[in-house]
Amino acid sequence: MGFLDSLSGQITNAGKDIKKKAADTAETMRLQNEIRANQTKIDKFCEELGKRVYEDIKDNPDEKYAYYVDNIMKLQERIEDDQRSLQGLKSVRVCPECGASVDGDSAFCTCCGTKLN
Ligand SMILES: [Zn+2]
Repeated sequence: MGFLDSLSGQITNAGKDIKKKAADTAETMRLQNEIRANQTKIDKFCEELGKRVYEDIKDNPDEKYAYYVDNIMKLQERIEDDQRSLQGLKSVRVCPECGASVDGDSAFCTCCGTKLN
């Protein structure tokens, strides 16, 4: 085989390598995106499952769930305390419809338009 034939062969092989790398890169990105999207879906299902299980067991949790139920209940009490504290602040009101913080003198919610008493 002559020098030019050999060079031509090398260039062809380099081109094939570049095409293969580009295809592999595209496939890698596609697979990584698919994995990420499916992991996000799993996380959402787990969250929904957790909420449903919580509603089913919260009144009489099995020992293995007690830690989670206890923490959720404590955090919910904390939220309710904070919401009461918010309502006690005179210069700011909390819209009962959407939960937005609204100026205490406003007659209507600036976020959703609900009439405030
Ligand atoms: Zn509102």
